Amino acid sequence: MLEDKILRKLFLGFIQIHILHHAKEHPIFGAWMLEELTEHGYNISSGTLYPILHSMEADGLLEKEDKNVEGKIRKYYTTTTKGETILNEARNKAYELFKEIKD
Ligand SMILES: [Zn+2]
Repeated sequence: MLEDKILRKLFLGFIQIHILHHAKEHPIFGAWMLEELTEHGYNISSGTLYPILHSMEADGLLEKEDKNVEGKIRKYYTTTTKGETILNEARNKAYELFKEIKD
């Protein structure tokens, strides 16, 4: 459906902002972020989320660290300084937009 396609494109930005916000507070991993986004009403699969995390890492917005959790290697992501700059800018823009469209 065209509506789905358009919404997915829009939500991609929201999701990236959401990731930057949480990965700034504490290191996050894929499964945790999936649950968080689901709680916020996003219908997203790991097949969609993982490539987003990878590309954000490639863009220098997230820093990846492998941690051994009970014998399994888990990839943790933390927001970089560059990511924080982007997050601040996005927050201002989101707030500005929200004020305008809220009613
Ligand atoms: Zn959240």
